[in-house]
Amino acid sequence: MRGMPELSSEVQFLKGVGPRVALTLAAKGIHTIEDLLYYLPFRYEDRLNPRSIEQLQPGEMASVIAEVRGSGLFRTRRMPVFEMTAGQGRNKLKCLWFRGGYLEGKFKPGALVALYGKVEFSTFGRGGGLQMHQPQFEILHEPAEDGQPPTEEQQRFDSLETGRIVPIYEATGKLNARWFRRIIRTALELMPPEVGDAIPKAIRERLGLVPRAEALWQVHWPDAGESFMALQVAATPAHRRLIFEELFFLELGLELKRRRARSQPGIGFVPSEKVRAALKKILPFHPTGAQKKVFKEIATDMAHPSPMRRLLQGDVGSGKTIVAFEAAVLAMENHYQVAMMAPTEILATQHYLSARAVLEPAGYRVVLLTGSLDQQQKKDIRRHVARGTAQMVIGTHALLEDKVEFDRLGLVIVDEQHRFGVLQRMKLMRKNSDVQPDVLVMTATPIPRTLALTLYGDLDVSVLDELPPGRTPVATRVVSDERAEEVWEFVRKVVNGGQQAYVVYPVIEENEEKDTGLKAAIKMYDELRKKILPDLKVGLLHGRMTAEEKELMMRRFKQNEVQVLVSTTVIEVGVDVPNASVMVIEHAERFGLSQMHQLRGRIGRGAARSYCILMTGGKVSEEAQQRLDTMVSTTDGFEVAEKDLELRGPGEFFGTRQAGMPSLRVANLIRDRKLLELAKREARALLEEKTPEITDTEKRAAVDYLRTHWNRRYGLVEVG
Ligand code: ADP
Ligand code: MG
Repeated sequence: MRGMPELSSEVQFLKGVGPRVALTLAAKGIHTIEDLLYYLPFRYEDRLNPRSIEQLQPGEMASVIAEVRGSGLFRTRRMPVFEMTAGQGRNKLKCLWFRGGYLEGKFKPGALVALYGKVEFSTFGRGGGLQMHQPQFEILHEPAEDGQPPTEEQQRFDSLETGRIVPIYEATGKLNARWFRRIIRTALELMPPEVGDAIPKAIRERLGLVPRAEALWQVHWPDAGESFMALQVAATPAHRRLIFEELFFLELGLELKRRRARSQPGIGFVPSEKVRAALKKILPFHPTGAQKKVFKEIATDMAHPSPMRRLLQGDVGSGKTIVAFEAAVLAMENHYQVAMMAPTEILATQHYLSARAVLEPAGYRVVLLTGSLDQQQKKDIRRHVARGTAQMVIGTHALLEDKVEFDRLGLVIVDEQHRFGVLQRMKLMRKNSDVQPDVLVMTATPIPRTLALTLYGDLDVSVLDELPPGRTPVATRVVSDERAEEVWEFVRKVVNGGQQAYVVYPVIEENEEKDTGLKAAIKMYDELRKKILPDLKVGLLHGRMTAEEKELMMRRFKQNEVQVLVSTTVIEVGVDVPNASVMVIEHAERFGLSQMHQLRGRIGRGAARSYCILMTGGKVSEEAQQRLDTMVSTTDGFEVAEKDLELRGPGEFFGTRQAGMPSLRVANLIRDRKLLELAKREARALLEEKTPEITDTEKRAAVDYLRTHWNRRYGLVEVG
């Protein structure tokens, strides 16, 4: 006989979960009964007050419960369409599924179905009236044809499907929403009424959090009185409780990690008079107020003999590079080496060229190490790094190879732009076995501070919130490529006036994606060079060129030997040519918002008025139109990022997991930003012993809970 299950029992404990189902669940990250209970509905259906067909309005999303009247597959000229008619009394609602052949035989006349979808005027077939297009559906009752009465268990579950607010779960494999409803209901019923709660009581009371067991019940099977709106946006007390819980333990873990990192021995870089003099010598311009403030934060941190873990955030063009070089000087003057890592060869090369221009005249030896150097070159450079004759090494991921050894690594600078690579950063930090080097991460992704602190876990944050002087805002326009001629004429005029231009394409070659009709960089390069702008010097840059070719092209563009640079998004990251004042992005409807913002950041760097022309070719979806509108209406990176987050959601925005995003299952870092702040405050207070009302036993219990749940649940680096 099976004993009482615990939350930590395997899901297979439950009746109806065999080895095969367990595998499907495991792929969703559901291993234990507890995991199952945290598999929350992604929406709810109001079957307490289902709508009558008579009242439906075109344009609204609605849940309808009705009886199947008939169904069948039609062939139209373009595709097969499955049509099902559902009825309530005399009123009928047509439901259509394009290519719906798979639905044949599914809807038996007389069956009761729940439908959810957008109501429209009927556009298909005869009869007018209303229709739903591809509605989600559930068959609630098969028609009682064989006369067999339903079993008692069936009846019990059937009563859950209607006459109340019903949770809808994301289906997986053969496990549909209905299946999840049953199994989760079963798990809830087996759950002891008092489940352990690792959130200390004082916090629960102060924040008015509902008990854990109650929250779990309510989030799956809300009481009839619960606000339907609040349910849909995950804002019920039950949701709040579970979201807070998840964020609280996440923040507690991050806080512990941060503390541990701080307690390790690091280097205290002395900001001596000599350093000050050296800094004065290298600075090519007066730093902005923001640059001064930020460097001061960095220098203070570096002077402290514990390892610096700092994030430097600043919009494109805010001048992060020189701040990084100042930090490098502070390290080098203290006889330590500096490693600077960039996400692409182009960017590494560019940093290298700037570093040479700024640092070499002052006597520092800088080398470049990228994957495309030949073996002998790499070996030579590695030798210089290992012996300490190179004081600063700039490179790509090639820096992470085990063969790269340092003499005295003191500072690691990671320029991530908008990429996230927390794990790689960790690897570079371990390159000095005696002490932890200081780490400075630079990013151009403007994200809210708390979010940055969470994504980057153990980092402190500095923000460059001011652009260097002399910038003129970029004017942005959207035009259809039917007006391409005018655009090229404009480019010619600007170039003849002494400025330079970028022309960006979404792909390198045409056949990369089949018959999309996309213009591609290589083909358009030929066209522009030979036919459209034969009088101008046109160059080509794309990701399949060798590092040497790329470097050469960048140099020629920098020196104005190339006036119009045709490229793919390789220039998105960090390229700096102030004389370029025009950017034409073709097929702009294909680009992401942050990506366009990064691209646009390449211009508007000099004194000349700059123009960004977003050319569209082909169909522009509603979402694409919103992206283009945002680009026109603002040049503020924060606004762009907010809009991008809104349009894409955090997963897409941050490039999902590999990037070190904690994989949360209840909370949403964007939607739940307020609770995140709260969770962070509470977690920190708990560890800072500012909370006499919480007993030591409770504190230990919270940390224990974190340890036992951390790895699996958040997928972050291990704690403590
Ligand atoms: P990002 O933050 O995007 O990395 P960069 O460091 O590339 O920005 O700086 C953008 C441009 O602004 C560069 O041409 C740089 O030389 C220039 N710049 C940076 N700081 C200043 C300043 N204080 N005064 C004038 N120009 C500056
Ligand atoms: Mg930069």
